[in-house]
Amino acid sequence: MVDFKSIRAIDIHTHAEEPCGLHADDGYDELQTTMAKYFRAPWAHPPTIPETAAHYRSMNIAAVIFPVDAERETGFRRYKNEEVAELCAQNSDILIPFASIDPHKGKLGAREARNLVEHHGVQGFKLHPTMQGFYPNDRLAYPLYEAIAESGKPALFHTGQTGVGAGMPGGNGMKLKYSNPMFIDDVAADFPDMNIILAHPSFPWQEEALAVATHKPNVYIDLSGWSPKYFPPILIRYANTVLKHKMLFGSDWPMIAPERWLTAFEDAEFKEEVRPLILKQNAMQLLGVTG
Ligand SMILES: [Zn+2]
Repeated sequence: MVDFKSIRAIDIHTHAEEPCGLHADDGYDELQTTMAKYFRAPWAHPPTIPETAAHYRSMNIAAVIFPVDAERETGFRRYKNEEVAELCAQNSDILIPFASIDPHKGKLGAREARNLVEHHGVQGFKLHPTMQGFYPNDRLAYPLYEAIAESGKPALFHTGQTGVGAGMPGGNGMKLKYSNPMFIDDVAADFPDMNIILAHPSFPWQEEALAVATHKPNVYIDLSGWSPKYFPPILIRYANTVLKHKMLFGSDWPMIAPERWLTAFEDAEFKEEVRPLILKQNAMQLLGVTG
């Protein structure tokens, strides 16, 4: 169990990229290295979950970590949720497992979600409309949302532009349109008891994301995937005012290291009293933990 009193911050957005048990499929390495170049990430191979745990432990920052189940859309087999959860259990002082299920799995996916919460300690779910190839308000995803809503755990959606496939022929087939946060407004309306996190400054739909989070009490925003140096002024203005209880620190590790994000955060124009909310308090509230 994470000691929430003594940790410095909670990083709500980190990725489990490298299955330990087996090497990833052909082509996956190319997707990874192209993306690392896009983000100027300083590694040749993505870190394993134990390496990620060690890194975060050394900084006294807890991390939510998840795989992305995009095997239907990309053809690359997924990193098993159970395996991620097991490695998180071995590093439960610092890692908090989220799971990822392609909504196209329908009722089977809903069953998997229930099982992961009941038996594997999963604390939330990651969805990636662009990598999974679906509109968030498509009814095909609703059996999965029903299971997530029932569990009381949050659903984190990628929004906006993505580094995945950027610069590859045809963007590796990834379609940006699915990640417009306005589609998630429908989900927030239909599942008012399910907490939702819109990941990233949602370029080119930043104002849409701010509107949805302002209008729907169950919608939060994570600030991952961008250095705070490049945050649009309107995002900082909302974080300092109406959305100060809705904004969450996230890095997007391993594409962006938390230390790089935090250094830029110090120089950005956030109000002093808002910083601890973003770094830790809002995430504790959302995860339903005390400390
Ligand atoms: Zn991400």
